[in-house]
Amino acid sequence: MSRIRAEYMDPAGVRHGGMPTVHWGGADPTIYATKRQLAKKGKRRGRQPVAAQLRWWGITGHGGYGERFADLYRWDLAKDKRPATRRQLAALAKANRALRTCPTCGVVREYVIPRKYGECIDCHDDYWCSKPYSGAEREAA
Ligand SMILES: [Zn+2]
Repeated sequence: MSRIRAEYMDPAGVRHGGMPTVHWGGADPTIYATKRQLAKKGKRRGRQPVAAQLRWWGITGHGGYGERFADLYRWDLAKDKRPATRRQLAALAKANRALRTCPTCGVVREYVIPRKYGECIDCHDDYWCSKPYSGAEREAA
């Protein structure tokens, strides 16, 4: 074990204010997981406190190389993600419906109204078709 790794390896948290600390790869993946790892398996941390912290050297958000931290949670205390409630689904459906409603003709479309047109394809086409070369004008000529 390298010196740096040994420095990080502090499962009892003696040198880290009581926070159990492990180096990257030093955490037992069957016991600990990061929030992201929990989410991947459809879990959430629930009310459990941070179980340990992970430290490693790596690329930082600022493009440099430095010390990184990640909070670790326990699998056995993680909760299943709550399925969306009926109310949340209704809110989503409503928002989705609003995105599909054409402000020009008021018709709810199968697709989301293209933002660049600001109206449904039919209205957009009508707009362009009613320009100089429309059938109506040709008939009148
Ligand atoms: Zn329309």
